[in-house]
Amino acid sequence: MNQVELINVSKSFDKQQDILNDINLSIKKGEFFVLVGPSGSGKSTLLRMIAGLEDITDGIIKINERAVNHLPPKDRNLSMVFQNYALYPHLTVEQNILFGLRAKKVNKQEQQKRLNETCQMMEISNLLKRKPKELSGGQRQRVALARSVVSEAPLCLMDEPLSNLDAKLRAHMRIEIKRLQKRLGLTMIYVTHDQVEAMTMGDRIMVLNNGRIQQVGDPITLYNKPANLFVASFIGSPK
Ligand code: ADP
Ligand code: MG
Repeated sequence: MNQVELINVSKSFDKQQDILNDINLSIKKGEFFVLVGPSGSGKSTLLRMIAGLEDITDGIIKINERAVNHLPPKDRNLSMVFQNYALYPHLTVEQNILFGLRAKKVNKQEQQKRLNETCQMMEISNLLKRKPKELSGGQRQRVALARSVVSEAPLCLMDEPLSNLDAKLRAHMRIEIKRLQKRLGLTMIYVTHDQVEAMTMGDRIMVLNNGRIQQVGDPITLYNKPANLFVASFIGSPK
């Protein structure tokens, strides 16, 4: 079953040229789907449209086989990690992480259990009483990840969630995110411009350039049979 489907989706801002051009795409339940492309290629815009944070100019977006073009973000049953983290500045780390669960009236015991598990995994258990401004960039990034993960939404959208971490922590988080995604059977749409992340985490990878799909395939196919020179140079195969 498809978790997400895009049918002839296009996007332009005002009267500018299309930022995204006729995107057709199906993402299966439980799939780890990676979106790569250079800066400005339209990755964040595509993710924001799936989340419902950005209108689409043309086409249909389906989640769980249901057209969601007019559904607000809160009714799409997904979680999202933004590039800029978007933490509430006046709330503590703990309050930030639990915000969504409290709004959904998840019981206290369950909240505490998920909080403990998630914070251990993200190595932020010692930061719960701090405010976002008292955290480093990498710590904020992990809090944003924790807030998304704790919701246990079946569809998770992540926009370059590890870009602010040092190499060692990034390698650790790659493994943690992948393990968690498998364990919960999450459908993941994961934006990165890091080839190593794409190749090691993705069940399938989509390469985007100038708002157009260059190729969609599993890592080995992209590496061995790049559809064009752009994909070859981007994925780094010798061809
Ligand atoms: P990426 O995430 O791949 O770096 P984006 O999706 O952020 O790319 O941006 C794709 C293109 O859309 C860029 O050329 C960017 O300048 C443009 N863009 C993004 N948001 C807006 C906006 N709100 N208004 C006008 N242009 C925008
Ligand atoms: Mg972006």
